[in-house]
Amino acid sequence: MKQSVTQKEIDNIIKKLEGKGLKANVSKGTERTIIGVIGDTSKISEDEVNAVRTMRGVEDCLRIVKPYKLASRDFKKENTVIDVNGVSIGGKKIQVIAGPCAIENRTILMTIAERVKACGASFIRGGAYKPRTSPYSFQGLGEEGLKILAEARQLTGMPIVTELMDPRDMETMIKYADIIQIGTRNMQNFRLLLEVGMAGKPVLLKRGMSATIKEWLMAAEYIMSGGNHNVILCERGIRTFETTTRNTLDLSAIPVLKQLTHLPVVVDPSHAVGRWDLVEPMAMAAVAAGADGLLIEVHTNPEEAFSDGEQSLKPDTFMAMMEKLKPIASAVGREI
Ligand code: PEP
Ligand code: MN
Repeated sequence: MKQSVTQKEIDNIIKKLEGKGLKANVSKGTERTIIGVIGDTSKISEDEVNAVRTMRGVEDCLRIVKPYKLASRDFKKENTVIDVNGVSIGGKKIQVIAGPCAIENRTILMTIAERVKACGASFIRGGAYKPRTSPYSFQGLGEEGLKILAEARQLTGMPIVTELMDPRDMETMIKYADIIQIGTRNMQNFRLLLEVGMAGKPVLLKRGMSATIKEWLMAAEYIMSGGNHNVILCERGIRTFETTTRNTLDLSAIPVLKQLTHLPVVVDPSHAVGRWDLVEPMAMAAVAAGADGLLIEVHTNPEEAFSDGEQSLKPDTFMAMMEKLKPIASAVGREI
């Protein structure tokens, strides 16, 4: 829309679109207002596009040919910066989300939270609902775990990132989480995506372990189409033929996503490599490649951890890694 557009002119466009069975998604940026046309736009003729172009307040009307629209750079040129309780993701500062794989008990979580905070982490993470390969493995503490996380937030001031697996837990989740994580195994759980699309909380969308970048962006589109534009993409490694590492970290996904989308990109080297000794070099590479954030598993006693101990850093190792990341961040014009 033109910079001088009025609300009445915007309403007219919305009415016109709705009359055609389409939905309008109005995005008011600092520079301009963009109206995204949601629905099956393939049946709209060029004549109709031209007609919209001549409507009052309209600067231009473009067809976004990519299947993801709201997530696309064509739709929004500037990077999306998401504010979470005063912490910005997608801006100059690279944000670090750190904590154990699962919340195990209060004492351990409080210790980890204080240690990672002292090292410069800005979010505390931990799973209360764990997507375990075996039904006999520790499944998480559920709401009890979320309460412990909330206590860690109170203690440190760090916002919470935690995973939601089942829409039935949404009501509970919403009371505690600051960012809702969707795990790799649920990236294409479309009902769950639609649900978090209506939740009004930022979403950390992990890449499906066998998902292409296009499928991943379509999953983001599911969330955004529900009105929730606060989506953070998290590369966490993909399945390849290589078995030395748990997964293969797709570093090129970072610059590729930076071209295709305006959404912030976080990298999780912990789940990508599955070995604590490889976390630091891959975190360094991720920062060099342009990541907006890192997700790092940290545990005070990895040998005894209920899950993912083999890939968890001890607080001291985490501290050393954070120090090494500083010059790399500054070399690429960022801060950490
Ligand atoms: C996690 O973050 O602990 C986790 C289960 O991650 P992913 O979904 O990437 O395996
Ligand atoms: Mn884990």
